[in-house]
Amino acid sequence: NYQPADVQDIADLTGDSLELSKAAATMDGEIIVFCGVDFMAETAAIISPDKTVLLPASNACCPMADMITADELKLVKSRHTDAAVVCYVNTSGEVKAESDICCTSSNAVNVVNSVKEDRIIFVPDRNLGRYVQRFTKKEILPWEGFCIVHDQITTGHVREARKLHPDAILLVHPECCPEVIDLADQVASTSGIIRYVCNAPEHEFIIGTEVGILHRFKRECKEKNCYPLSPAATCENMKKTDLVKVRDALVSLQPRITVPEEIADRARGAIERMLAI
Ligand code: SF4
Repeated sequence: NYQPADVQDIADLTGDSLELSKAAATMDGEIIVFCGVDFMAETAAIISPDKTVLLPASNACCPMADMITADELKLVKSRHTDAAVVCYVNTSGEVKAESDICCTSSNAVNVVNSVKEDRIIFVPDRNLGRYVQRFTKKEILPWEGFCIVHDQITTGHVREARKLHPDAILLVHPECCPEVIDLADQVASTSGIIRYVCNAPEHEFIIGTEVGILHRFKRECKEKNCYPLSPAATCENMKKTDLVKVRDALVSLQPRITVPEEIADRARGAIERMLAI
């Protein structure tokens, strides 16, 4: 959803990280060219260990996913032995392997409520963790990570956008900070935002997430007017993929993403427990 427009246009499938990984597991191709960042390609490799997973932009990483390591998580676990670990899909394979269950921005509340423990170590996104806290009686212990793109969207952006588009509906991603979430009309994952806009009877929307998503609206519901909440909300890592890199990856079958079997097996457990609910 956040890729450059020309990359989205040549893709067999566009979506959020989990949708893509699930589809990659069920689609026929033996090779997956994952146009995204490293944790997404890793997740695909974990779910589909028999497929070749390529990440055309080998240096495309997620700064939020890199804000926690497996060793740091082990330390927190040792301090809160009564808590379950819920990890956002935006984590490395090693962090997933240390987690009890994985979640996405669309199912995080259900995942948290599904575990038997009353205390939850939630990693790595503090904003998503605090958003989930609004909908659960369980105690969330959020890791202090954040998305450098969503976290820079401010209430000032909201005031400005509301002034420019007073009739528009404001949708924001739960990776935004709590003050921005408080001012939104709807809070949803990227796929949830796309579904909402395309199905709503209204015609004007302010979109509070990475600006690459606007290309989906141009393709899928071009009769709607969608304005970015912050035009500067661009993830430079998501923009590292281009058509030349995709072509080169297909020719050379490199750069290939693999996850050691022992880590992949445990990480797959956290993902499968999520899928089971
Ligand atoms: Fe990571 Fe945020 Fe970029 Fe997504 S938009 S890859 S969460 S930094």
